[in-house]
Amino acid sequence: MANPRHDRLAAFIEPFRVAPGRDVVLHRDFDPRYRDGSVKKDQSDELLQLGVGLLAEYQQRLAAQDTYGVLVVLQALDAAGKDGTIRHVMSGVNPQGVEVHSFKVPSPEELDHDYLWRYARNLPARGHIGIFNRSHYEEVLVVRVHPELLEHQRLPPDSKRRDMWKRRYRDINAWEHYLVDNGYRVVKLFLNLSKEEQRERFLARIDEPEKNWKFSASDIHERAYWDAYQEAYSEMLSHTSTEWAPWYVVPADHKWFARLAASSIIAHTLIEIDPDYPKVSEDAHAALLDAKKELEAEEHT
Ligand code: AMP
Ligand code: MG
Repeated sequence: MANPRHDRLAAFIEPFRVAPGRDVVLHRDFDPRYRDGSVKKDQSDELLQLGVGLLAEYQQRLAAQDTYGVLVVLQALDAAGKDGTIRHVMSGVNPQGVEVHSFKVPSPEELDHDYLWRYARNLPARGHIGIFNRSHYEEVLVVRVHPELLEHQRLPPDSKRRDMWKRRYRDINAWEHYLVDNGYRVVKLFLNLSKEEQRERFLARIDEPEKNWKFSASDIHERAYWDAYQEAYSEMLSHTSTEWAPWYVVPADHKWFARLAASSIIAHTLIEIDPDYPKVSEDAHAALLDAKKELEAEEHT
């Protein structure tokens, strides 16, 4: 697409894209503190507003065309800024065209179904942007780090064979391929936070009373599994970044930069879809002109 805005965005987000088939070791390959040297913090408000404006414009066209949908998958460890990113990135769009779903510990009803069931039930409609705050990837992250969770999943013994994670990656890739074939773009963002920055954000949540509600004792418990999570994320990125639904690793230690990168990646996807307002047929256009005549005639009666 010969569009300079598109080309600039494409170049900006390229370092975050995980090439399909790449063998990722998170701490070796991606720096949570990374910033693009050409983008300064004091420009960030302006750039963020630009991204928010782009998203608003394209979301309106996406809704009018009602053919394609966008699923944004947001994964991260605690305190990486998922909620703030959603709030910021979506601040300009029409709420009627966006759905956010947060996935928590599965309910008994959800556990009584196949593991993708609850995610499939919450997919966005055509014309909409759906955001998964945590997603089907928890099934190869928290469940992999805490295999005892599998006990609640009521799986038959055959499903728990040794290669079960490889099969989950395969099935998730196939499911996303199916969605893409059906007109949905799947945008996968991992907010990559450093262990030190998480420590500081947890401390702030304890020290600042208005942030206390964000902190739970289980956050500290999960932090103890830091290395296991890094490993599970590395495996996930290595096996589920595909041509049809690549992962983006967004450096998350600088909040402003993470928000800018996330909105750029989503905007880039919408520009690629390039949704158009539906063209009205000649008959429909003639009917519009008739209606206009009637409305104008009212003025003189
Ligand atoms: P939060 O996003 O902080 O409200 O926490 C939601 C919690 O639900 C996290 O601790 C997740 O690890 C947990 N969770 C999300 N999906 C699953 C899942 N499929 N199985 C088990 N726990 C999950
Ligand atoms: Mg939490």
